[in-house]
This record gives sequence, structure tokens and C-alpha cells, in this order.
Amino acid sequence: MRITSLAFATLAVAMLTWDLAAQAPRARDDANAPLTVLKPARVFDGDGMHEGWIVRVKGERIDYAGPEAGPLPPGAKAIDLPGATLTPGLVEGHSHVLLHAYSETSWNDQVSREGLALRVARAVNHLRSTLMAGFTTVRDLGTEGAQYADVELKQAVNQGIIPGPRMLVSTKAIVATGSYQPKTFVLEWTIPQGAEEADGIDSLTRVVRDQIGKGADWIKLYGDYRWGPLPGSHPTFSLDEMKLAVETAKSAGVPVAVHAGTVEGMRRAALAGVATIEHGNDGTPEIFKLMAEHQVAWCPTLTAGAGPWPPAGGLDSPAVARKRTALKAAIDAGVTIIAGSDVGTFPHGDNARELDAMVALGMTPAAALKSATSIAGKVLRMDTQIGQVKPGWFADLVAFDGDPTKDIAALKRVRFVMKNGTIYKQP
Ligand SMILES: [Zn+2]
Repeated sequence: MRITSLAFATLAVAMLTWDLAAQAPRARDDANAPLTVLKPARVFDGDGMHEGWIVRVKGERIDYAGPEAGPLPPGAKAIDLPGATLTPGLVEGHSHVLLHAYSETSWNDQVSREGLALRVARAVNHLRSTLMAGFTTVRDLGTEGAQYADVELKQAVNQGIIPGPRMLVSTKAIVATGSYQPKTFVLEWTIPQGAEEADGIDSLTRVVRDQIGKGADWIKLYGDYRWGPLPGSHPTFSLDEMKLAVETAKSAGVPVAVHAGTVEGMRRAALAGVATIEHGNDGTPEIFKLMAEHQVAWCPTLTAGAGPWPPAGGLDSPAVARKRTALKAAIDAGVTIIAGSDVGTFPHGDNARELDAMVALGMTPAAALKSATSIAGKVLRMDTQIGQVKPGWFADLVAFDGDPTKDIAALKRVRFVMKNGTIYKQP
């Protein structure tokens, strides 16, 4: 009887010790986590504007956001940001960190003449420029011939080896055989393509799974491209192939993004139940209605391309007018819009030009800002982590001189950048 009770007591003490040992280091870390109090003029929390709010950051998370309450806690560091607006870290919904501006080197020459190490060296700079521009998350939609370098760049960022935004990556992206490029070589040569070819049940299923196995957070398909004897873009994958890709990726919890500019390419993608359609240049009211019905978000990439923004020809050219019409049709249809620029076709760090364009072509500045924060968080399935200034969310916080909900150009005046609680830029 005595022995049993002693044994029980010993066990209880052992369990208590184990429990304390397991809990203690965590509790100590929490207690010692550095506390930073940010004091901007106002806070855009991903939804609305709040004058006079402060934001308290503990470790890598937001600890408090609201009106200033009481004196600074002991040991806390205050950062004053007078006149500035604090927002959630911006999201770039469509980047190519392994490309550099086409005005410097054409896509063809980058893919066929620049080696992997050279491209990665540039990408390291691109990631830093992106972060310093206030973009703390990117969805990178294809390495364009640079293999799986995006997966390893993401590892380098996450391991603190290089500064950069959070990365959601898609590795090589997937194209239908014969539809992509480079095309300008003698026909008897087999030229490596800027994305991975796959078709039909066997190879498409295998390639989707293989890319997920290699680390793809998103699967990117090219639903149409410039191919065949006729001018312009034409559909590539069949509806059944797109459905197959979506179904295959879904098992692993991986969403699908589809490049589509033609009405038929967009229609197939919407019916296949993809998560986002990229570009959508020729989108009609009917197509945007279909997208809204199937809850497919649109990433317009209004400023994609080598040219400057605003375009040299002004905002009245037929190409810009087409984008304006598409944007209005999408807004009228109630399509969810995520900001994404196709940066890489133009210089990294100039990502905010896309939000400039969204406003110039018909969105309110606040709506454009939401599409790069809270809405982007939802579309990227990270809405409990990023895109809002809320306790428990990652401390991805940026501040700009002025008020970007009144003047979107304020996004070019970056005062402060914090990602995951670490400060990269401050006044
Ligand atoms: Zn792209």
C-alpha cells in the first residue's frame, strides 16, 4: 500500500517535472520576446482606416492593434511614424523573381542564354527589392526555365540567409506540349522549354504530383498561349485536362492558377474550378459572371510587360481601354480581384505600379489596397496569417508617407518595413 502510493507520488512528480520542462522554454521565449510599439498617424487594418491607432508586436506576431492604452510596457521599444499610414505587408499576387525586366533582356535570351546560378544571383537582389518596396508576400508563378530554384530561394529566405518576402511558389509551371517557347530554333532540335510540358491523364497527373512533391505551393497551368497558325492566343488544355489538374492538386491541398487571356481559355478554367485566372485580357461580362459563380478570383496583371507605367502613349490607347473595360466588367460581376503585376517583365521593386493602374483604370484606392492585403490573404488561403492588422496575425507591417486610401501614389513612399516581426527598414 505504502509502496504503491509512493510510486504514484513519484510518477506524479515526474509528470509534473516533464510538463514543466516541456512548457518552460516556450514560456521563457514568450516572456523574452521583444516588444515593439508602432505609432503611425493611422492604421489601415486590411478593411478600414483607424486614426490614432497603435500596433504592438511581440516576437513574430501582432499582439495588439487599437487605440493607445496606458504607458509603454517595460522593455518595449517605441517607433514613431508621424504622418505615416501603417498597413498590412503588401502582397504581390503574380511575380517571377527569376526573370528580370524584358527591357534589359528578352524572355527568349533569359531562358536560353542565362544559366541557373546567374539567374539565382539576380533573384536574390529581386527578393530584397521586393521586400524593401513593402511587399512581404509574393506568389511566384513559374520559374520560366529556372527549374526548382524558387523552392530553394524560399528556403533561403525562411532560413534567414537572404532578406525577402514570404514566398508561395509553383516551380516550373505546366504547359501543353508544343504550345510554349522558346520556338526560334531549328525544328530537329529539342529545346528545353520555359515550363514543363504535360498532356492527358498520365503525364498531366504525374507532372502535377511531381511539382507538388518538389515543393509547389500552387500549380500554374497555361490555359492558352500564342500557338498554331493563327495570330493571337488560342486555348491549350481541354476542359477535362484542367479538371484533372485541379482534382489531382486538390488531394494535396494545392490550388491551381491558370494563365488565360482568351474567352475560351478563361471559360474552361472557370468551369474547371481553378482558384485564380491570370491576365484575363479579353474577359467579357459573361465570363466574369461565370467566374463569380464558380468563385474563381481574377489577377488582372494590368501593368504586365516591358513598357513603363503609365504607358508612353497615355491611358487612351486601345490596349489600355481594353483593360479598363475588363476591369469594370469584373467589378460589376462581383469577381474577387487579387492584385498581381507579373513583375519580372518589368523591374522588381516597382510592384506598386499595379495598384496605381488599378486606381487609374477604375478602382477606388481603398479597394486596390484591399486587393493587395486582406483579399489577397483570402485568395492565397492565408487569411488567418497575413493581409490584416489583427492580434495573432504575422507581424508583416509596412508604413508609407501619407494616406494610400486617398492617394495610391503614397505606396511609392515606403517609410517602414517589418516582416515576421523583424524590421528591415525604419526612419
Ligand atoms: Zn506571369
